[in-house]
Amino acid sequence: MKKITLLILLAFISISCKSKKDIAEKPQIDVTAVKYANIINIDAAKEHVFNLASDEFEGRKTGEEGQKKAAKYLAYHYNTNGIPKYLEKNYFQTIPISGLINERRKSASNNPSENVVAFIEGTEKPEEVIVISSHYDHEGIKNGLVYNGADDNASGTTGVLLVAKAFANAKKDGHGPKRSIMFVNFTGEEQGLLGSKYFVANPILPLKDIVVNLNMDMIGRIGKDRQNDSDYIYVIGADRLSTELHEINEQMNSTYTKLELDYQYNMKSDPNRFYSRSDHYNFAKNGIPIAFYFNGTHKDYHKPTDTPDKILLDLLVKRIKLVFHTAWEIANRDERIVVDVEQEKN
Ligand SMILES: [Zn+2]
Repeated sequence: MKKITLLILLAFISISCKSKKDIAEKPQIDVTAVKYANIINIDAAKEHVFNLASDEFEGRKTGEEGQKKAAKYLAYHYNTNGIPKYLEKNYFQTIPISGLINERRKSASNNPSENVVAFIEGTEKPEEVIVISSHYDHEGIKNGLVYNGADDNASGTTGVLLVAKAFANAKKDGHGPKRSIMFVNFTGEEQGLLGSKYFVANPILPLKDIVVNLNMDMIGRIGKDRQNDSDYIYVIGADRLSTELHEINEQMNSTYTKLELDYQYNMKSDPNRFYSRSDHYNFAKNGIPIAFYFNGTHKDYHKPTDTPDKILLDLLVKRIKLVFHTAWEIANRDERIVVDVEQEKN
Protein backbone atom coordinates (compact mmCIF):
# COMPACT_ATOMS: atom_id res chain seq x y z
CA MET A 1 0.00 0.00 0.00
CA LYS A 2 2.65 2.43 1.03
CA LYS A 3 4.72 1.43 -1.93
CA ILE A 4 1.81 1.97 -4.33
CA THR A 5 1.10 5.38 -2.88
CA LEU A 6 4.74 6.30 -3.35
CA LEU A 7 4.67 5.07 -6.93
CA ILE A 8 1.53 7.04 -7.67
CA LEU A 9 3.08 10.05 -6.06
CA LEU A 10 6.27 9.60 -8.07
CA ALA A 11 4.27 9.16 -11.25
CA PHE A 12 2.33 12.31 -10.45
CA ILE A 13 5.50 14.28 -9.78
CA SER A 14 7.05 13.06 -12.94
CA ILE A 15 3.95 13.97 -14.98
CA SER A 16 3.73 17.42 -13.45
CA CYS A 17 7.46 17.97 -13.97
CA LYS A 18 7.17 16.90 -17.55
CA SER A 19 4.29 19.21 -18.31
CA LYS A 20 6.08 22.09 -16.64
CA LYS A 21 9.15 21.39 -18.74
CA ASP A 22 7.01 21.25 -21.87
CA ILE A 23 5.55 24.63 -21.09
CA ALA A 24 9.01 26.06 -20.49
CA GLU A 25 10.34 24.65 -23.74
CA LYS A 26 7.38 25.43 -25.90
CA PRO A 27 8.66 28.01 -28.34
CA GLN A 28 7.15 31.44 -28.00
CA ILE A 29 5.85 32.64 -31.32
CA ASP A 30 6.57 36.30 -31.91
CA VAL A 31 3.54 37.40 -33.92
CA THR A 32 5.19 40.67 -34.87
CA ALA A 33 8.16 38.84 -36.37
CA VAL A 34 5.80 36.51 -38.26
CA LYS A 35 3.88 39.45 -39.69
CA TYR A 36 7.02 40.93 -41.24
CA ALA A 37 8.46 37.57 -42.26
CA ASN A 38 5.41 37.22 -44.51
CA ILE A 39 6.67 40.13 -46.59
CA ILE A 40 9.19 37.56 -47.83
CA ASN A 41 6.99 35.77 -50.35
CA ILE A 42 7.21 33.84 -53.61
CA ASP A 43 6.12 36.69 -55.90
CA ALA A 44 8.75 39.07 -54.52
CA ALA A 45 11.45 36.37 -54.62
CA LYS A 46 10.57 35.45 -58.20
CA GLU A 47 10.80 39.04 -59.38
CA HIS A 48 14.31 39.56 -57.99
CA VAL A 49 15.72 36.17 -59.01
CA PHE A 50 14.49 36.54 -62.60
CA ASN A 51 15.71 40.12 -62.86
CA LEU A 52 19.15 39.58 -61.33
CA ALA A 53 19.74 36.41 -63.34
CA SER A 54 18.42 37.82 -66.62
CA ASP A 55 20.66 38.10 -69.70
CA GLU A 56 20.42 41.86 -69.31
CA PHE A 57 22.86 41.66 -66.40
CA GLU A 58 25.35 39.74 -68.53
CA GLY A 59 26.45 37.36 -65.80
CA ARG A 60 27.40 40.23 -63.45
CA LYS A 61 31.13 39.94 -63.87
CA THR A 62 33.18 42.02 -61.44
CA GLY A 63 34.04 45.41 -62.94
CA GLU A 64 31.96 44.89 -66.07
CA GLU A 65 28.80 46.59 -67.25
CA GLY A 66 26.47 43.82 -66.09
CA GLN A 67 27.78 43.95 -62.51
CA LYS A 68 27.30 47.70 -62.46
CA LYS A 69 23.74 47.34 -63.73
CA ALA A 70 23.09 44.85 -60.95
CA ALA A 71 24.60 47.24 -58.37
CA LYS A 72 22.24 49.97 -59.55
CA TYR A 73 19.31 47.56 -59.42
CA LEU A 74 20.11 46.76 -55.77
CA ALA A 75 20.51 50.42 -54.82
CA TYR A 76 17.23 51.24 -56.55
CA HIS A 77 15.38 48.60 -54.54
CA TYR A 78 16.91 49.59 -51.21
CA ASN A 79 15.93 53.15 -51.95
CA THR A 80 12.35 52.45 -53.03
CA ASN A 81 11.84 50.20 -50.02
CA GLY A 82 12.96 53.00 -47.71
CA ILE A 83 16.23 51.43 -46.61
CA PRO A 84 18.82 54.17 -46.15
CA LYS A 85 22.37 54.21 -47.44
CA TYR A 86 25.13 54.03 -44.82
CA LEU A 87 27.93 55.74 -46.69
CA GLU A 88 27.85 59.46 -47.21
CA LYS A 89 27.49 59.63 -50.97
CA ASN A 90 25.47 56.61 -52.08
CA TYR A 91 24.94 52.88 -51.62
CA PHE A 92 28.34 51.93 -53.10
CA GLN A 93 31.62 51.13 -51.41
CA THR A 94 33.97 51.51 -54.38
CA ILE A 95 36.85 49.07 -54.59
CA PRO A 96 39.81 50.29 -56.64
CA ILE A 97 41.46 48.03 -59.20
CA SER A 98 44.29 47.42 -56.69
CA GLY A 99 41.72 45.75 -54.41
CA LEU A 100 40.55 43.43 -57.18
CA ILE A 101 43.75 41.59 -57.94
CA ASN A 102 44.06 37.95 -57.02
CA GLU A 103 47.79 37.21 -57.18
CA ARG A 104 47.34 33.53 -56.57
CA ARG A 105 44.89 33.09 -59.42
CA LYS A 106 46.67 35.67 -61.59
CA SER A 107 43.35 37.43 -62.16
CA ALA A 108 42.46 41.11 -62.05
CA SER A 109 39.56 43.36 -62.90
CA ASN A 110 40.01 46.05 -65.57
CA ASN A 111 37.74 48.43 -63.68
CA PRO A 112 36.93 49.38 -60.11
CA SER A 113 33.93 47.59 -58.66
CA GLU A 114 31.35 48.10 -55.93
CA ASN A 115 30.04 46.51 -52.77
CA VAL A 116 26.46 47.64 -52.18
CA VAL A 117 25.63 48.72 -48.62
CA ALA A 118 22.29 49.64 -47.01
CA PHE A 119 21.54 50.25 -43.34
CA ILE A 120 18.73 50.24 -40.80
CA GLU A 121 19.70 51.98 -37.59
CA GLY A 122 18.90 50.22 -34.33
CA THR A 123 16.51 51.90 -31.91
CA GLU A 124 18.30 50.98 -28.66
CA LYS A 125 21.82 49.77 -29.46
CA PRO A 126 22.59 51.39 -32.81
CA GLU A 127 26.35 50.83 -32.48
CA GLU A 128 25.89 47.05 -32.44
CA VAL A 129 25.47 45.87 -36.02
CA ILE A 130 24.23 42.68 -37.65
CA VAL A 131 25.60 42.21 -41.17
CA ILE A 132 23.41 40.28 -43.61
CA SER A 133 25.24 39.51 -46.82
CA SER A 134 25.44 37.85 -50.23
CA HIS A 135 27.74 38.25 -53.19
CA TYR A 136 26.00 39.47 -56.32
CA ASP A 137 28.81 39.08 -58.85
CA HIS A 138 29.19 36.02 -61.06
CA GLU A 139 31.15 34.71 -64.03
CA GLY A 140 30.06 37.04 -66.83
CA ILE A 141 29.93 35.92 -70.47
CA LYS A 142 32.25 33.20 -71.77
CA ASN A 143 32.34 31.93 -75.36
CA GLY A 144 29.23 33.96 -76.06
CA LEU A 145 27.26 32.28 -73.27
CA VAL A 146 25.78 34.24 -70.38
CA TYR A 147 26.49 32.70 -66.99
CA ASN A 148 23.25 33.84 -65.35
CA GLY A 149 24.18 32.71 -61.85
CA ALA A 150 20.59 32.31 -60.67
CA ASP A 151 21.45 30.10 -57.75
CA ASP A 152 24.98 31.54 -57.51
CA ASN A 153 24.02 34.03 -56.30
CA ALA A 154 20.87 35.80 -57.43
CA SER A 155 19.20 33.56 -54.82
CA GLY A 156 21.18 34.86 -51.82
CA THR A 157 21.04 38.42 -53.14
CA THR A 158 17.26 38.13 -53.32
CA GLY A 159 17.48 36.96 -49.72
CA VAL A 160 19.31 40.10 -48.61
CA LEU A 161 16.88 42.37 -50.48
CA LEU A 162 13.81 40.73 -48.97
CA VAL A 163 15.15 40.55 -45.40
CA ALA A 164 15.94 44.26 -45.75
CA LYS A 165 12.43 44.99 -46.99
CA ALA A 166 10.89 43.06 -44.09
CA PHE A 167 12.94 44.95 -41.48
CA ALA A 168 12.23 48.27 -43.20
CA ASN A 169 8.49 47.63 -43.08
CA ALA A 170 8.73 46.69 -39.41
CA LYS A 171 10.62 49.88 -38.65
CA LYS A 172 8.06 52.00 -40.51
CA ASP A 173 5.35 50.56 -38.24
CA GLY A 174 7.35 51.29 -35.08
CA HIS A 175 8.89 47.81 -34.72
CA GLY A 176 12.43 48.68 -35.78
CA PRO A 177 15.22 46.38 -34.56
CA LYS A 178 16.99 47.32 -31.30
CA ARG A 179 20.37 46.71 -32.92
CA SER A 180 21.35 48.05 -36.33
CA ILE A 181 21.28 45.91 -39.43
CA MET A 182 23.62 46.39 -42.37
CA PHE A 183 22.82 44.78 -45.71
CA VAL A 184 25.87 44.14 -47.86
CA ASN A 185 26.04 42.72 -51.39
CA PHE A 186 29.64 41.86 -52.16
CA THR A 187 31.38 42.06 -55.51
CA GLY A 188 34.52 40.10 -56.49
CA GLU A 189 33.50 36.90 -54.71
CA GLU A 190 34.10 34.66 -57.70
CA GLN A 191 37.62 36.11 -58.01
CA GLY A 192 38.50 35.02 -54.47
CA LEU A 193 36.22 36.73 -51.92
CA LEU A 194 37.73 40.09 -52.90
CA GLY A 195 34.75 42.32 -52.05
CA SER A 196 34.47 41.02 -48.49
CA LYS A 197 38.25 41.03 -48.11
CA TYR A 198 38.23 44.74 -48.97
CA PHE A 199 35.26 45.33 -46.67
CA VAL A 200 37.09 44.02 -43.59
CA ALA A 201 40.45 45.55 -44.58
CA ASN A 202 38.90 49.00 -45.18
CA PRO A 203 36.08 48.93 -42.66
CA ILE A 204 33.32 51.52 -42.88
CA LEU A 205 32.47 50.73 -39.23
CA PRO A 206 34.65 49.34 -36.40
CA LEU A 207 34.82 45.55 -36.85
CA LYS A 208 34.33 45.12 -33.09
CA ASP A 209 30.83 46.54 -33.53
CA ILE A 210 29.79 43.75 -35.90
CA VAL A 211 27.82 41.29 -33.78
CA VAL A 212 27.37 38.62 -36.42
CA ASN A 213 27.45 37.98 -40.17
CA LEU A 214 24.67 35.93 -41.73
CA ASN A 215 25.73 35.06 -45.28
CA MET A 216 23.58 33.53 -48.04
CA ASP A 217 25.34 32.02 -51.05
CA MET A 218 23.35 29.56 -53.21
CA ILE A 219 20.05 29.00 -51.43
CA GLY A 220 17.58 28.34 -54.26
CA ARG A 221 18.30 24.76 -55.35
CA ILE A 222 18.79 21.19 -54.12
CA GLY A 223 22.42 20.05 -53.90
CA LYS A 224 23.74 16.84 -55.41
CA ASP A 225 24.08 15.08 -52.03
CA ARG A 226 20.41 15.62 -51.16
CA GLN A 227 17.07 14.06 -52.08
CA ASN A 228 14.99 16.06 -54.50
CA ASP A 229 12.01 16.46 -52.21
CA SER A 230 13.79 17.62 -49.10
CA ASP A 231 13.25 20.89 -47.25
CA TYR A 232 16.72 21.45 -45.89
CA ILE A 233 19.55 23.93 -45.75
CA TYR A 234 23.21 23.36 -45.01
CA VAL A 235 24.27 25.53 -42.08
CA ILE A 236 27.99 26.05 -41.88
CA GLY A 237 30.12 27.74 -39.23
CA ALA A 238 27.37 28.83 -36.82
CA ASP A 239 28.92 27.02 -33.85
CA ARG A 240 32.57 27.81 -34.53
CA LEU A 241 32.74 31.07 -32.57
CA SER A 242 29.46 31.35 -30.71
CA THR A 243 27.39 28.48 -29.34
CA GLU A 244 24.60 31.00 -28.84
CA LEU A 245 24.40 31.74 -32.55
CA HIS A 246 24.05 28.04 -33.30
CA GLU A 247 21.31 27.69 -30.68
CA ILE A 248 19.37 30.73 -31.84
CA ASN A 249 19.41 29.54 -35.44
CA GLU A 250 18.14 26.12 -34.35
CA GLN A 251 15.47 27.62 -32.15
CA MET A 252 14.20 29.99 -34.85
CA ASN A 253 14.05 27.10 -37.29
CA SER A 254 12.13 24.81 -34.94
CA THR A 255 9.70 27.62 -34.12
CA TYR A 256 9.08 29.09 -37.56
CA THR A 257 10.63 27.52 -40.64
CA LYS A 258 10.99 23.82 -39.74
CA LEU A 259 13.66 23.04 -42.31
CA GLU A 260 16.07 20.19 -41.85
CA LEU A 261 19.32 21.85 -40.77
CA ASP A 262 22.07 19.77 -42.34
CA TYR A 263 25.48 20.08 -40.69
CA GLN A 264 27.34 17.68 -42.95
CA TYR A 265 29.51 20.41 -44.46
CA ASN A 266 30.12 21.98 -41.07
CA MET A 267 32.39 19.11 -40.06
CA LYS A 268 35.95 20.35 -39.90
CA SER A 269 37.05 17.17 -41.67
CA ASP A 270 34.81 17.88 -44.68
CA PRO A 271 37.08 17.94 -47.75
CA ASN A 272 34.99 20.59 -49.55
CA ARG A 273 36.02 23.19 -46.98
CA PHE A 274 32.94 25.31 -47.71
CA TYR A 275 33.57 27.22 -44.46
CA SER A 276 36.37 29.12 -46.20
CA ARG A 277 34.69 29.44 -49.60
CA SER A 278 32.35 32.39 -49.32
CA ASP A 279 32.40 35.93 -47.96
CA HIS A 280 31.53 35.14 -44.34
CA TYR A 281 35.04 33.69 -44.00
CA ASN A 282 36.59 37.17 -43.98
CA PHE A 283 34.40 38.00 -40.97
CA ALA A 284 35.20 34.76 -39.17
CA LYS A 285 38.92 35.40 -39.64
CA ASN A 286 38.38 38.58 -37.65
CA GLY A 287 36.69 36.77 -34.78
CA ILE A 288 33.13 37.72 -35.82
CA PRO A 289 30.57 34.91 -35.43
CA ILE A 290 29.09 33.84 -38.76
CA ALA A 291 26.44 31.55 -40.16
CA PHE A 292 26.65 30.46 -43.78
CA TYR A 293 23.43 29.28 -45.49
CA PHE A 294 24.06 27.10 -48.53
CA ASN A 295 22.27 24.46 -50.63
CA GLY A 296 25.36 22.64 -51.89
CA THR A 297 26.68 22.36 -55.43
CA HIS A 298 24.78 20.74 -58.32
CA LYS A 299 25.13 19.95 -62.00
CA ASP A 300 24.59 23.58 -63.04
CA TYR A 301 27.14 25.00 -60.58
CA HIS A 302 29.30 27.58 -62.42
CA LYS A 303 27.71 26.66 -65.73
CA PRO A 304 25.63 28.78 -68.11
CA THR A 305 22.72 26.47 -67.22
CA ASP A 306 22.38 28.00 -63.72
CA THR A 307 19.17 29.73 -64.83
CA PRO A 308 16.27 31.26 -62.87
CA ASP A 309 13.62 28.77 -64.07
CA LYS A 310 15.40 26.11 -61.97
CA ILE A 311 15.10 28.01 -58.69
CA LEU A 312 12.72 26.39 -56.19
CA LEU A 313 10.94 29.52 -55.07
CA ASP A 314 9.00 28.08 -52.13
CA LEU A 315 12.14 26.55 -50.67
CA LEU A 316 14.08 29.75 -51.30
CA VAL A 317 11.45 31.71 -49.39
CA LYS A 318 11.59 29.33 -46.41
CA ARG A 319 15.37 29.60 -46.23
CA ILE A 320 15.25 33.41 -46.43
CA LYS A 321 12.68 33.44 -43.62
CA LEU A 322 15.06 31.44 -41.42
CA VAL A 323 17.72 34.11 -41.90
CA PHE A 324 15.16 36.81 -41.17
CA HIS A 325 14.00 35.22 -37.90
CA THR A 326 17.57 34.56 -36.77
CA ALA A 327 18.50 38.17 -37.50
CA TRP A 328 15.34 39.43 -35.77
CA GLU A 329 16.15 37.48 -32.61
CA ILE A 330 19.82 38.54 -32.51
CA ALA A 331 18.84 42.16 -33.17
CA ASN A 332 16.18 42.33 -30.48
CA ARG A 333 17.40 40.19 -27.56
CA ASP A 334 18.64 41.94 -24.42
CA GLU A 335 22.27 40.85 -24.62
CA ARG A 336 24.67 40.78 -27.54
CA ILE A 337 25.55 37.21 -28.49
CA VAL A 338 28.90 36.24 -27.05
CA VAL A 339 31.96 34.72 -28.63
CA ASP A 340 32.57 31.70 -26.43
CA VAL A 341 34.57 29.36 -28.63
CA GLU A 342 38.31 29.83 -28.92
CA GLN A 343 39.39 30.80 -32.39
CA GLU A 344 42.47 28.57 -32.39
CA LYS A 345 40.16 25.58 -32.58
CA ASN A 346 38.80 26.68 -35.94
ZN1 LIG B 1 28.64 31.97 -54.83
